[in-house]
Amino acid sequence: MIKKVILSICLSLSSLVFAKDIALSFDDGLNPESNLDALQINNDILKTLKANNVSAIVYPSISKIGGKQGLDIISEWGKQGHRIGNHGNLHLNLNKGDVTLTDYLVDMEQGHQAFSSLQGFVPRYRFPFLKEGNTVEKRDGVREWLSAHKYQSGAVSIDASDWYYNQLFLKYKNKNDQESLDKLKQAYIAHLLDRAEYYDGLAVNTLGRSPKHILLLHVRAINAAWLGDIINSFNQYGWRFIDSDTAYQDSIYQIQPKTLPAGESILWSIAQIYGVGKLRYPAEDAPYEYSNLNKFGLDIEP
Ligand SMILES: [Zn+2]
Repeated sequence: MIKKVILSICLSLSSLVFAKDIALSFDDGLNPESNLDALQINNDILKTLKANNVSAIVYPSISKIGGKQGLDIISEWGKQGHRIGNHGNLHLNLNKGDVTLTDYLVDMEQGHQAFSSLQGFVPRYRFPFLKEGNTVEKRDGVREWLSAHKYQSGAVSIDASDWYYNQLFLKYKNKNDQESLDKLKQAYIAHLLDRAEYYDGLAVNTLGRSPKHILLLHVRAINAAWLGDIINSFNQYGWRFIDSDTAYQDSIYQIQPKTLPAGESILWSIAQIYGVGKLRYPAEDAPYEYSNLNKFGLDIEP
């Protein structure tokens, strides 16, 4: 009995000493006019965050939330003590040849106009698709805008394909396929933990330390359903949840890598500068997930 108690104290102490810090960020938001579950999904995520005492940041994009109703739903984040950043208007991909710097800056301004008066707003900009420019002009032009407007880049340290797992989630949900949903839940949580460990490993191998992480998720049905399980699993594996303001104080978020095309996870960019081999591009995409899904018994056609 005593041995057991001592062991459990040691385990709790070691998880405190070696805990890795992580903050949650949620992108896009949903449009209640095109998605009947938008309000419910938003409420469920907020409820789980509250129940677990976790403060997060949401990065809404005007084109994803639609009009006033969508904005009202997003404003609830700020009212509940979370942060709200800027994810622009049209969700533009800065690496696309037909997206000009001028158009992109207008798009960022429009996001600022829409969100800056909301309670909880912080001047942080999340690049759609994590694409930060395919030319020096675009990359540095946006960085100049950020600095002139006292903005911080809403960078991500841990990227993951939750949008892809969400597509499968909706497919199985529509078919009422509970067996596949159970498998998907295991696969999804394993995927998120794997990505977290992978990006943390990149940091330790390059910078020599585990930074304060920011995980990229989306305001989507899969997270409304399983966020509580995700938080529990991360806690079990030695991760500790912190708020986004604390996370963004880590000096890695001040680094502006001079990579081209610029973007992806900040740790991915840093690893590229350090010449770490076998970095896939784009860093996260659906095909990379097929083997994980197969491992959990889901027969996914490539
Ligand atoms: Zn987005």
